Amino acid sequence: MTYPYLSIDLAKIEHNARVIVGLCKEHGIAVTGVTKVVRGDPDIARAMLRGGVVSIADSRFENLHRLREGGVPEPYLLLRLPPLSGVDQAVELAGLSLESEPAVLEALSEAALRRDQVHQVILMVELGDLREGLWPEDLIPLVDEALALPGIHIAGLGANLACLGGVMPSEANMRRLVDLAEAMEDHFGLRLDWISGINSSGLDLIVSGRMPPRVNHARIGEAILLGRETTRRHPWPGTFQDAFRLHAEVLEVKRKPTSPLGERGEDAFGHVPPVEDGGESWRALLNLGRQDVAVEGLTPADPRLRITGASSDYLVLDVSAAGEGEIKVGTVVDFHPNYAALLAAMTSEYVKKERAGRDSARSSRQFMKWGFMNSDD
Ligand SMILES: *Cc1c(COP(=O)(O)O)cnc(C)c1O
Repeated sequence: MTYPYLSIDLAKIEHNARVIVGLCKEHGIAVTGVTKVVRGDPDIARAMLRGGVVSIADSRFENLHRLREGGVPEPYLLLRLPPLSGVDQAVELAGLSLESEPAVLEALSEAALRRDQVHQVILMVELGDLREGLWPEDLIPLVDEALALPGIHIAGLGANLACLGGVMPSEANMRRLVDLAEAMEDHFGLRLDWISGINSSGLDLIVSGRMPPRVNHARIGEAILLGRETTRRHPWPGTFQDAFRLHAEVLEVKRKPTSPLGERGEDAFGHVPPVEDGGESWRALLNLGRQDVAVEGLTPADPRLRITGASSDYLVLDVSAAGEGEIKVGTVVDFHPNYAALLAAMTSEYVKKERAGRDSARSSRQFMKWGFMNSDD
């Protein structure tokens, strides 16, 4: 094995999906699994599907392509608004997409007709997070136009929260979404299949029992992959937080001062690092850096270890709290990545990916073979 690498436990992902899907199901909500943070990895998508998600969603054409090449069942949901220049790809790769612009709907309709298809859309409304979505007062006029487009079918109404503005899903904003959907249904005499209310930030609202019953669709990534809701990043009960682990190798261990020696200017990234003068410490240098991962998003699996800095290719760990000689040249150190770190590690070509756990029995065999059973799971 060469380091760094990311180990991916598919059995844990499947388990997490089953927990989240079960909870949502009790409240009449179908879950689409979101694979954008793992670049549309087909094995991970399949683990989500085994755990009960009804379909797979991703934000990028390249990822949808990867899912298709990997044989993951379609249709897929395209999560990011398609560009006007990309409507043909949108129609080709996704059966369903999130939309908010009249010009794009028109072009999508034409693209769908060119392929003898009808493309399904979920119209996104702005509920305050200020990312994608049309203002509620523009909804009726837009639907009026969209209904005249023969290549488009309006499958639902949706909203996205907690991604840009950090606005949490609430009974009030979900009620607003349902009211808008019902006003639209009454006005045009139609019935929407989907009211797509939430992502991983909406789990607490579901559990509280205050989710309006007509919200029947969730698009969930992080809660399945990392086992956390996303308003406070609490571990979600009954899920694993460590389906992904990053492993790096120690290259050097020396006792060094905590404060740099000599006159100081900027570091490699244009910052002047803060000085902490804590005397001397045992520092381990690892083969992991900013070219591999978002370093700020890593937590050492061993709580005695502390990240004190990183450059493109090195990570510095204070290992003073570990036992004498425990961390030495060649030792492999494990980290838990958060969402940003996982995104970067999945995207970095320098980080190898190792998948295990198609089923639990095979998973534990694999893990023993690789010798990282001594983790905290
Ligand atoms: C990324 C994304 C999601 C999934 O968000 P998680 O926090 O990972 O559950 C859902 N909907 C949209 C529109 C997204 O862009």
